[in-house]
Amino acid sequence: MKILNPSDGTLVRELADDDTGAVAAKYARARAAQPGWGAIPLGERLAAIEKFKAETEKRKDELARTLTTETGKPISQARNELNALAGRIDFFLANAKSALASETVLADPQMQEQITHEPLGVVANISAWNYPYFVGSNVFVPALLAGNAVLYKPSEFATLTGLAIGEMLHAAGVPPDVFSVVVGSGATGSLLVEQPVDGVFFTGSYPTGARIAAACAPRMVKLQLELGGKDPSYVCEDADVKTAAESLADGAMYNAGQSCCSVERIYVQERIYGRFVDAFVATVKGFKSGDPMDEATYLGPLARSPQIATLEGQVADAVAKGARLLAGGKRIARPGNWFEATVLSNVGHDMALMREESFGPVIGIQKVAGDDEAVRLMNDTEYGLTAGVYTPDEKRARGILAQIRSGSVYWNCCDRVSPRLPWSGVGHSGVGVTLSTYGIQAFTRPKAWHLKPA
Ligand code: NDP
Repeated sequence: MKILNPSDGTLVRELADDDTGAVAAKYARARAAQPGWGAIPLGERLAAIEKFKAETEKRKDELARTLTTETGKPISQARNELNALAGRIDFFLANAKSALASETVLADPQMQEQITHEPLGVVANISAWNYPYFVGSNVFVPALLAGNAVLYKPSEFATLTGLAIGEMLHAAGVPPDVFSVVVGSGATGSLLVEQPVDGVFFTGSYPTGARIAAACAPRMVKLQLELGGKDPSYVCEDADVKTAAESLADGAMYNAGQSCCSVERIYVQERIYGRFVDAFVATVKGFKSGDPMDEATYLGPLARSPQIATLEGQVADAVAKGARLLAGGKRIARPGNWFEATVLSNVGHDMALMREESFGPVIGIQKVAGDDEAVRLMNDTEYGLTAGVYTPDEKRARGILAQIRSGSVYWNCCDRVSPRLPWSGVGHSGVGVTLSTYGIQAFTRPKAWHLKPA
């Protein structure tokens, strides 16, 4: 496996993929090690994760550089990810004890009823490259705290980060067989799914998620899929135009639009449409594109070269159907995977741009007559990850957001994830929950105890 730097196409490192035998051996060692890990007191597992957090803080600058080198994420955004990781781990450390505690739900003298939260056993954690510290830790931290062994397959585009995560967990006291990094591409991921694991926790695209769901279906294995989105935002005529434009431009372009909850569609009430589009384009044109190692860079390259053709196809289709290209629109001619920050207006739902996940720095802005049309268009999607509305009127915002079919909703904000709130999607955005206390119990099997004193 060749790890290439997406900002210039140079070779960073070559690694050997785990083959069938290596994946099976890692599974067998995890299976053997899990009961011991599950049996130690929770306090010891919490202490190991606390030390892991300290390791990530100690090595932050080096880890951020590695992440930037292999994914192209601008260095300031790589550091932001590591800073926010600490907050997520703190949430799990503070809440694992109560989320995993046994509950007595009936305490009659003749009959007691209790619920305990048992580890699932050995779980596969197949992860995306775009936020490897977030989407990885959402799974492996609570899974380890709950007493599971984890076979972690990072994306091939974030393998060096995945290997560093393994080193830090082992240095923190998690036994090597309890957390193993499985190295390889999608083919290695499917070898992992074939192992008789007790849970498959996947973060990635809908097509891959659908393949994994089909592979797991006959086995009755616990399955969670955190998939893509086509996330909409609606700007009402009473919103502050400049504030909304700046917030949404960041929501659409941060990490070069490669976030599961990037803003991918914008609807604007017709009375402010022109002013909003102008303010949005001005904000986007102010974003600095360039070397992702430069502290001032906001827009770096795309992590994966095939995505350029997807974006070119969406722009060409939209323009052919009448969209107006207001900024960008094409690949940047330099080595590496570069695409201009692109804004299109006069778009419609007959265009792939407004229906298929772009996962890049490309956005369409559509005019709407009012709230009813906005709600109809926001729900006109197979996805349902996040959605937002911009208005000073809380009642109006709540009324609109209550009608939207998505896992998360935002009032006057976007592209936001909180460890305190459940992260989930509907439709093609997936099944299952991470984060919040639901996202701790997701890695357990509730066991029902019926206890009748003799
Ligand atoms: P992919 O679906 O391409 O890959 C995800 C992971 O699955 C990678 O580790 C990949 O390996 C692996 N994989 C690929 N094929 C298979 C297979 N047949 N069996 C098992 N594993 C396989 O997604 P990306 O990594 O490109 O991530 C981008 C997608 O992830 C976007 O759609 C984005 O919206 C979504 N996402 C969703 C999030 C959420 O919370 N809902 C969060 C972050 C991203 P490899 O990369 O080595 O090919």
